[in-house]
Amino acid sequence: MIADKPEVTVESALIFEKSVPGRRGVLPPKAPEVDLEALLGAENLRPEPPRLPEVDELTLVRHYTNLSRRQIGIDVTFYPLGSCTMKYNPKVHEAAVQLFADLHPYQDPSTAQGALRLMYELQRDLGEITGMDAVTLQPAAGAHGELTGIMVIRAYHASRGEAEQRRVVLVPDSAHGSNPATASMAGYQVKEIPSGPDGEVNLEALQAELGPHVAAIMLTNPNTLGLFERRILEIAKAAHAVGAQLYYDGANLNAVMGMARPGDMGFDVVHLNLHKTFTVPHGGGGPGSGPVGVKAHLAPFLPVPQVVRRGEGYALEYDRPHSIGQVKSFFGNFGALVRSYAYIKMLGAEGIRKSAELAVLNANYLKELLKSEGFRIPYDRTCMHEFVAQPPEGVRTLDVAKGLLEMGYHPPTVYFPLIVKEALMIEPTETESKEALEAFARAMGEVVRKDKEWLEGAPYTTPVRRLDEVQANRRPKLRWGE
Ligand SMILES: *Cc1c(COP(=O)(O)O)cnc(C)c1O
Repeated sequence: MIADKPEVTVESALIFEKSVPGRRGVLPPKAPEVDLEALLGAENLRPEPPRLPEVDELTLVRHYTNLSRRQIGIDVTFYPLGSCTMKYNPKVHEAAVQLFADLHPYQDPSTAQGALRLMYELQRDLGEITGMDAVTLQPAAGAHGELTGIMVIRAYHASRGEAEQRRVVLVPDSAHGSNPATASMAGYQVKEIPSGPDGEVNLEALQAELGPHVAAIMLTNPNTLGLFERRILEIAKAAHAVGAQLYYDGANLNAVMGMARPGDMGFDVVHLNLHKTFTVPHGGGGPGSGPVGVKAHLAPFLPVPQVVRRGEGYALEYDRPHSIGQVKSFFGNFGALVRSYAYIKMLGAEGIRKSAELAVLNANYLKELLKSEGFRIPYDRTCMHEFVAQPPEGVRTLDVAKGLLEMGYHPPTVYFPLIVKEALMIEPTETESKEALEAFARAMGEVVRKDKEWLEGAPYTTPVRRLDEVQANRRPKLRWGE
């Protein structure tokens, strides 16, 4: 049974097709008489009302409940997506977010002191965890934090009259794609640094590229192979010796938080992914948050407004002449900030450290279990919070991923980092139990022992079978009725 065509086995996922003219779920209050033409201009009004689905409430509830049941998420199953830290988001965080449900971003700051205090304390706590002197909470995701951080670095070099001279950003060949994309979007030339045979940055190759033309080095530590960069202090020293700034991609902070701080390793700028390390749910494209922390010499360039302490209270400070400006409407994704604040306050310093220890322990335990199921480990030493594996000889990573879907699991990250062939990048996180890890390892073993035909046909019982991923990317159908 080999699926050569995608086969959609479920009823329509389109609410439009359930629409019956005149049917309704709610009757909204009658709109006040407003002269829309005068307010918006006639040319901005639709000639006809929009075509919206008309359904009763029960149809609507069933529609979305059934859609949600076709989804794999962390609340449904183990989700070991490497580099994404798919940890459980405790439900009490949602209750905390509800406390702020009536707040509006246009409210006068004097009436939103609790929210500002939360942001102020979160800035301080994230600064403490990363070893940075100042933090902005504005960026909406990790990649957005990267862009913000690199713009801050550019503004710093410009303030010293070195913007023209420093044209290059160095990025290791194991880096997440967003690193070179960020540097190039910020107008820099990207120069790739090869990894050594131990999976770490090759220090000699790095030193050969360093010079007064380099603006920054972007690194993540532990790196995307799940290995700690043991020569990080030497790298920092070499970068600073030529006036370059060291940028920390904080996506892997879960391995070290509470134990080691990027600021102490010599990094000048850090972004965090609150939707990875600090539990904010993600994976469906929902709002994330990518705060950026910097050392004192870069603080004047951070975006405005900055949340500051003023007298007894808290205020939004806009008067910062060297700032790169505002990078997001309002003050960042506030709901994400509340969840992360609740997480940090509930765990405390001890709990944060313990989370990182357990994340590392879980990853190492799973790595050993998978070895006994026949998986190969290309860089086999004690890993941090994740590791990269390869299936047994002759089995394709793509087929392992599709087979896992059939077993009810979300697959690991596949074919990344690019420097490992047939890579499976596995990050269990600290929130999984020993039993969950063992069950997953058994499922992985079962998948790779299936025959070729089964593997190439999987998955069989999911709402959608194997898709043509190239066409899905190149020619996505985004319009209803096409
Ligand atoms: C996830 C990730 C990013 C990008 O973060 P987003 O929040 O997805 O924009 C950058 N670097 C690494 C290593 C990551 O894992």
